[in-house]
Amino acid sequence: MATTVTRRDERLLIGGEWVDATGGGRFDVTNPATGEIVGSTPDATADDVRAAIDAASDALEGWRGATALSRARLLRRSADLIRERAGEIGLIMTLEQGKPLPEAKGEVEYAASFMEWFAGEAERTYGQIVPPMNPANRVLVMRQAVGVAAAITPWNFPAAMMTRKLGPAMAAGCTSIVKPASATPLTAAAILRAIEDAGVPKGVVNLITSRSAGMVSRELFGDRRVRKISFTGSTEVGKELIRLSADQVKKLSLELGGHAPFVIFDDADIDDAVDQLIASKFRNAGQTCVCANRVYVQRGVYQQIVERLGQKVARLVVGNGLRDGVAIGPLIDDRAVDKADEHVQDAIARGARLVIGGERLTAGDLKGGNFYAPTVLDGVTDEMLIYREETFGPVAGLTPFDTEEQAIAYANDTVYGLAAYFHTRDYARLLRVAERLDYGIIGANTGIISAANAPFGGVKESGYGREGGAVGIDEYMTVKYVCVGGVGQ
Ligand code: NAP
Repeated sequence: MATTVTRRDERLLIGGEWVDATGGGRFDVTNPATGEIVGSTPDATADDVRAAIDAASDALEGWRGATALSRARLLRRSADLIRERAGEIGLIMTLEQGKPLPEAKGEVEYAASFMEWFAGEAERTYGQIVPPMNPANRVLVMRQAVGVAAAITPWNFPAAMMTRKLGPAMAAGCTSIVKPASATPLTAAAILRAIEDAGVPKGVVNLITSRSAGMVSRELFGDRRVRKISFTGSTEVGKELIRLSADQVKKLSLELGGHAPFVIFDDADIDDAVDQLIASKFRNAGQTCVCANRVYVQRGVYQQIVERLGQKVARLVVGNGLRDGVAIGPLIDDRAVDKADEHVQDAIARGARLVIGGERLTAGDLKGGNFYAPTVLDGVTDEMLIYREETFGPVAGLTPFDTEEQAIAYANDTVYGLAAYFHTRDYARLLRVAERLDYGIIGANTGIISAANAPFGGVKESGYGREGGAVGIDEYMTVKYVCVGGVGQ
C-alpha cells in the first residue's frame, strides 16, 4: 500500500462550530475496497437541519453585503488550502469512495479549481444600465445573491460536486447548507475544514450529514428562508425534488443521470479513439454521470475497435485504490456490483458476445470488496438493459452502425441528454454532428470534458441549470430591474 490508513470521526458544521448531532446519533462509513469501517459521522436530526438553516440565514446579510473582492480572496485562499491538503483529502476519498489515489488527488485539484474559477467570477457580477423607452426614466439592472442555498451532492465525485456548487454560491454572496451523500461524508467534511480554515465567516458554509436524506430535503424545501437548492444525483430523486419544489416555488438546479453515446466514425484516429473511450468509460470504475454507456462504431472499423479495446481493457489493473498501478477500484456498494452484473448477464442472454470481463472479482485481496471486472460486450442491441439504463460500472457495450444519419439517430435515442462523444477527422462532419446531438455537453475527439471554466449540465431528463463556466454563478443570483422615474433628459 502506498499510504497509512487512519480512521476519521467527523462532526457537523453549524454556524462555525463542529458539533455532534442532537441526540448523539452517528453512522459508520465503509471502505468499498475492503468492507472495513474507516470512520463515522453524525446522523443529523431535523433540529440540526433547522439549526444549520438558522446559521446560514444569520450569516447571509454580512456575507452578501461584503465586497465581491473580499469574497474572492477567501475563495482563492480556500482553493490554495484544498490544494495543499490534496494528499490528505485524496486519501480520505480513496478510503470511503474507492477511486485510485492518483484519481482522488486529481479530483481534489479539480475541486479546488471551482473555488478559484468562481473567485474570478465573483468580481465580474456586473449589472447593466439600459437605454430607457421613456426619456425621463433610467433603467438599471442589478444582479444579487439569491439568499440561503442548499447543496445535495452524490458520492461519485464527493469533493468536486460540492465545490461546483459552493464556489458559485459563495462568490455570488449566498450562504449554504451542504448535504453530502451518506457513503462519502468524510471527504465533504475535509473540504469544509479547508474552507473554514481559509477564514470564511461563521455560518457561510454549514455541513449536515444524515442517513435520512428524505427528512433533510423536507426540512430544506419546507423552510422559506432556503431560496435555492442545487442537486446532483439520480434522475429518480431529481424528479421527486421537482415535485417538492412546487409548494414554495423554489429555485432549483438539477444535475441528473446520463446515458452517454460514444460514436467512432471510420475516419477517426483509431488509437486515440480507443484511448479516449477507455478514459471516458473506465474512469472512477465507470461511475460517472458523463461516462460512455453506449458505444457506436462504424462498420468499417468495428472489428478492429472491438479487438483493440478488448486488449487494452485486459491490461487495466483492478484493486484497492491505495495500491500503486491500480486503474479500476471497487464499485461503491454491493448493489452497484449487482446492477453491473445484471446488465452484463442480460446482454449476454439476449445475444451479445462477451469479449472480456463479465464477472465479480473476489479472489485474493479483492475478497471483501465490491469489485467487478472491466468488461467489453460486442453486439449490443436496443432490447438490452445496458442500452437504456445507466450501468454505473466498468462495462462497455459496442454496437455497429453504417451511416452518419444512423449514428445520430441512435445517439439521440434516449431520455437522457447530458454528455455525448464522437471521433472523426472530418471537420465538416465534426460541426454537423456536434450541432445535431441532443446533449448539453459534447466531447469531439476527446473523452474527458469536465472543467471549471466550461458550463456543465444536461437537457431532457438529465436536468436543468449549468454548473461552472461564466454562467455557473447565475444559478445563485437573481436579476432585479430598477426603473427610476422623473430623472428628466
Ligand atoms: P442519489 O441516490 O440520487 O443521491 C444523490 C444525493 O441525494 C445523495 O446525497 C443522497 O443522499 C441524496 N438523496 C437520496 N434520496 C433523496 C431524497 N429523497 N431527497 C433528497 N436527497 C436525496 O444518486 P447517487 O447514487 O448518489 O449518485 C449517482 C447518480 O448521480 C447517477 O445517476 C449519476 O449520473 C448522477 N450524477 C450526475 C452528475 C451530473 O453532474 N449530472 C454528477 C454526478 C452524478 P444519501 O446518500 O444519503 O442517500
